Amino acid sequence: MNVKEVFKFTCKECGGHTLVVNHTWNILAGANSERWQEWGPLKGDHHWHYEFREKIDDDIENEVQRGDFGEFEEDDSASEPEEYEAYGTEDDKESDEFYVNCESCDREVEFGWSKPDRHGLIMPVEFSDFVPSESWPDPKYTDIWQQRKWLHMGNVQP
Ligand SMILES: [Zn+2]
Repeated sequence: MNVKEVFKFTCKECGGHTLVVNHTWNILAGANSERWQEWGPLKGDHHWHYEFREKIDDDIENEVQRGDFGEFEEDDSASEPEEYEAYGTEDDKESDEFYVNCESCDREVEFGWSKPDRHGLIMPVEFSDFVPSESWPDPKYTDIWQQRKWLHMGNVQP
């Protein structure tokens, strides 16, 4: 059955409907560390799919890899979503950064997570079904959420 997509997001600047998740992280390679990024569209069901990946290097013209880099899928039968582990254990998790931007105008869109400590699904503030009390802020938005009184017993970072 072909279900017509209901847009959860409409950009207030450009009218676009697509958000892009961008993830950057460091890989420790011996004494060196490499910085990588991957990005792909966020769907209306809060899952996203990384479609592009590249090494961030200011000196070299990068070749963007296109492919299937895995997807967050939540198994309804389990209490925890499956961890996304497409890359190795050498990663420096503290260096991870996530951004959500409008695909059309590149405007940054604030978001939270469905579980603490940047786990679960991505919950953009501008999604029509966004509920602050069911979301944990991405760390860079914690102060803003505090000011808005969006933090409460449920989503205060431990
Ligand atoms: Zn836009």
